[in-house]
Amino acid sequence: MPITASTEDGEHEMFLVRLLYMLQQVDSRLAEIERELQSLDDGSKLEARLGEHKTVIEDLRERIRVVRRDVMDLELALKGVEGKLEELKEKMRSGAVRNPREVVRIEAEMRELSRQKDEIETRALQGYEELDMLQAKLNSEEEEHKRMSEELNAVRRNYEERLSQLHSERERLIDRRRQLVSQIDSGVLERYERLKERKGGIAVAAIDGTLCGVCKVTLTASAWREIDNPEALPTCENCGRIVCPPPELWGENE
Ligand SMILES: [Zn+2]
Repeated sequence: MPITASTEDGEHEMFLVRLLYMLQQVDSRLAEIERELQSLDDGSKLEARLGEHKTVIEDLRERIRVVRRDVMDLELALKGVEGKLEELKEKMRSGAVRNPREVVRIEAEMRELSRQKDEIETRALQGYEELDMLQAKLNSEEEEHKRMSEELNAVRRNYEERLSQLHSERERLIDRRRQLVSQIDSGVLERYERLKERKGGIAVAAIDGTLCGVCKVTLTASAWREIDNPEALPTCENCGRIVCPPPELWGENE
């Protein structure tokens, strides 16, 4: 009984080995799709990094709040010290202080206030410098955050797009597989599946000149004799795979 296959030009006799060859093509592509689906970047790693980076920015903002508050406190303290200094200067200028010991005491107090004023000014200046540095760092981290967010969006867009491409290709292949399998005897199918499992996913090798396309060993005469038999399954005696001429040579036998 002849084996037939549906092709673009309708039903016609089909070599069993060619059906298996086509099935192998479908299965190999399905395996590739599965591997790509497994390795597809859905952006979750970048999303985690983005989350960690957010705490860097929050810490910086908190540090800026603290330093800004310290600087404001220093400015207030400075005003207080300056006020007191001004008061004492005024007191000295007014001539109200006559007692020499009182003069010495006030002069000492003024020196101490000047020292405090210098110290506060130095600390405030350091605070302003730190604020500038923190603000510059915050700006660059925010820039980096924006860049990472954009990258994440792009990764997610690519992921969604590729995912739907792969899913629809897989659907088409599964349909094609169903169509092929319906034309192959179940015993032959079992043999194919077992072989595929044992041979790293490749049960059917394309013939490459006079060689098995997978193990590259010359095919034996018995394999060649079976090539022209539509119901035979020519086999590579070296690796045990079923061998089939490549599709570009199929026309020659019909
Ligand atoms: Zn081989």
